[in-house]
Amino acid sequence: MAIRTVVWGENIHERINKVVAEIYPEGMHVTIAEALNADDAISAATATLQEAEHGLPQARLDETDVLVWWGHKDHGAVDDEIVERVARRVWEGMGLIVLHSGHFSKIFKRLMGTPCALKWREAGERERIWVVNPGHPIAQGLGDHFVVEYEEMYGEHFSVPEPLETVFISWFQGGEVFRSGMTWRRGLGNIFYFRPGHETYPTYHQAEVRHVLRNAVKWAYNSNNAHKAVHDAPNVPVETALEPIAERGPKLHAPGEEGYR
Ligand code: ZN
Repeated sequence: MAIRTVVWGENIHERINKVVAEIYPEGMHVTIAEALNADDAISAATATLQEAEHGLPQARLDETDVLVWWGHKDHGAVDDEIVERVARRVWEGMGLIVLHSGHFSKIFKRLMGTPCALKWREAGERERIWVVNPGHPIAQGLGDHFVVEYEEMYGEHFSVPEPLETVFISWFQGGEVFRSGMTWRRGLGNIFYFRPGHETYPTYHQAEVRHVLRNAVKWAYNSNNAHKAVHDAPNVPVETALEPIAERGPKLHAPGEEGYR
């Protein structure tokens, strides 16, 4: 079965800004989903901020293997309950790919636990994206670097936790560098942050970027992605211990009592 993927788009700039609308007439999320659907191993649909429950009801998330997230102008409009719902699915094993300005999305900050801040400049600079982990599945099929001719600069320090792996580092014309492809694991969920994708440039139409997105979905996919037990904290009775043991010492909890949360 193909990897069930949902591309979530904030869907604001493309509706109110002429420049963005010309590059992405059907919305950035639709262009990204088309890039993913070019691979038979992926089945991508879309969801947007404006839909009921932002297009992410529990039943749909339960049938999602990988969620891709692009947001920028109104991160605050995303309902906290939906954010928590997505976080729980990541802990259960759903993959999450956060793009560009999604570094400040509620879901990314929730899962990173740090400010996720960075330097930026909107000056149409050339971005040279270096592969610094050539053995990584997300970098397969690329050369040692590729160029995005027009991009917004993002510069270090990017205040995220030390990643599990660094796949890409970007250089910008103005001199800054940025860790532009990083992975983390939270619970059973694989998370990838990918930097390019400023809305006023045609970044998601570029072949190398689309190739990375497909690689990333395949990397983030986890066949064991509905591990609901990740939330449980069972009190295991003495009688059911795997080896026979005698209870001893003082205790706080009554037999069978639920733990505190
Ligand atoms: Zn941007």
